[in-house]
Amino acid sequence: MIYLDYNATSPPRPAALDRALPFLTEHFGNPSSTHGMARGPAAAVERARDEVAAWCGGRPADVIFTSGATEANHLALRGLPRPALLVSAVEHPSVLAPARALGACVVPVTPDGVVDMEALAALLRERPGGLVSVMAANNETGAVQPIAAVAAAVRSAGGLLHVDASQLGGRLPAPTDWDALTVSGHKAGGLKGAGALVLRPGLALAPQQLGGSQERGRRAGTVDVPAVVALGCALSLPTPTGLAALRDRLQRAATILGARVTSEHAPRLPNTLHVTFSGLPGEAVVAGLDLEGVCASTGSACASGASEPSHVIEAMGGDPAAGVRLSLGWKTTPEEIEVACAALSSVVTRHREVAEEFSWNV
Ligand code: PMP
Repeated sequence: MIYLDYNATSPPRPAALDRALPFLTEHFGNPSSTHGMARGPAAAVERARDEVAAWCGGRPADVIFTSGATEANHLALRGLPRPALLVSAVEHPSVLAPARALGACVVPVTPDGVVDMEALAALLRERPGGLVSVMAANNETGAVQPIAAVAAAVRSAGGLLHVDASQLGGRLPAPTDWDALTVSGHKAGGLKGAGALVLRPGLALAPQQLGGSQERGRRAGTVDVPAVVALGCALSLPTPTGLAALRDRLQRAATILGARVTSEHAPRLPNTLHVTFSGLPGEAVVAGLDLEGVCASTGSACASGASEPSHVIEAMGGDPAAGVRLSLGWKTTPEEIEVACAALSSVVTRHREVAEEFSWNV
């Protein structure tokens, strides 16, 4: 199989796995215990905390480990002060769902999937001091948001900015201007089941999960030591190079087949290609690629193996059922991309032939 679904999850990087494994076997102790078997795991968690802080320019004491980006997003939205809440229309469901429950106001995006800065400024004027949540890069389209400009607008309105940076690890450096930042382990080459919310120093947060005093009382529950260790390690590794060139090769192959590139005029993650083929449902192309041994995605949320129409593409004014996302990562080779280009060509050509034949017969 050729794996081109890194935005869903990435294979663990070998160094991250090597560092995590001993904490599943001989160093299994609970880092909060007070005996000798706790010391190794506790030190490893603190090293990972330093690595996460170094990646995003935060302070180790302000890193709160969670079970993943979903929990970190919930903690930010529910736990930070929010006289008002504003979220972009293209946020991940783990931001949009709690935002809806909290009565948030939705900020529109441009046809390229980038936050509409004029609309944001107007909404902030009506809601000064609000909490704003804008992702660093979109998981479906790869569009990178103008976080520095968003931060400046939020600051001048006296608000707070939460940034979901789940898709940046292992791809791009973290943004520098935020009040709270979400990090995910398994997108960056770590393991599933660990993420973090990093706070600006001194920011008040109401804990949402109560119990033990782990994470300085801000998130109760025993830390998943192997997953946290892998998260810290993955973020400290050099970012893979050459992803944009491989993505561009795929993009050329897709455009020769008549594809429209989503968010083409926006800055994009170097590993992500989202395209639409006129008249072809994304799900049909993804199913065809699967038969050819290529793992891709429609990009939108999945329920029981079937894709939901994409709220992201809908917010951009596109056809929410037409997308195909190919996302690359540290293990992707030029040879794999050549095979994927050939597979894409044969799937799209076959589907078009069938569609043509069908319309002749009706
Ligand atoms: N935010 C974004 C932008 C994501 O892409 C994802 C995963 N698809 C999440 C949050 C949720 O991440 P996790 O699986 O770590 O809960």
